[in-house]
Amino acid sequence: MRSLEEDLEAAQTFHGHLCHGMVMGVRMARYACRELGIADPRSHRDLVVYVEMDRCASDAVSVVTGVTLGRRRLKWVDYGKLAATFIDLATDRAVRLAPRPEVPHAGNDLDPLEFWKNWTDEQLFSVTPVDMVVPEEDRPGPPVRTAVCARCGEKVQDGREVTVGEETLCRPCAHGAYYQV
Ligand SMILES: [Zn+2]
Ligand SMILES: [Zn+2]
Repeated sequence: MRSLEEDLEAAQTFHGHLCHGMVMGVRMARYACRELGIADPRSHRDLVVYVEMDRCASDAVSVVTGVTLGRRRLKWVDYGKLAATFIDLATDRAVRLAPRPEVPHAGNDLDPLEFWKNWTDEQLFSVTPVDMVVPEEDRPGPPVRTAVCARCGEKVQDGREVTVGEETLCRPCAHGAYYQV
């Protein structure tokens, strides 16, 4: 297993800078793995992580645990929170970690490594055991099924198609897209 220093260095290389969010993400991921009894997360194929924000800490979580979007083991839930749930599919145990309310906001002029050095993991984060099910169509592995949108003709994987009347459509054709042509 990598040391804290090695994880911080790897995260900084991947993320591009050293920041408070990155340090928090590294600490959070290491703490979560310890709580789940996963000694070497990067060789543990059953770990899935739901991050609740698309910011610095999420990069750190990905680097420390080895979970990626492309392997379907990193999920982004758009809550705007520096928090994450780590689930071990081998045991179905899951824990959600979030900074405790008393953790201060650290200014950007302070050195993140110095600032958080004297905080223990237990002081920084709450750890809550949670019940959750990763739906079959969200799990790693081959696609559950593939559909073809009746309107645009594009393929839709993993059960994301919708049925409108008699038609099978992709979500953008059914509900509108985030882009306009
Ligand atoms: Zn950052
Ligand atoms: Zn379509």
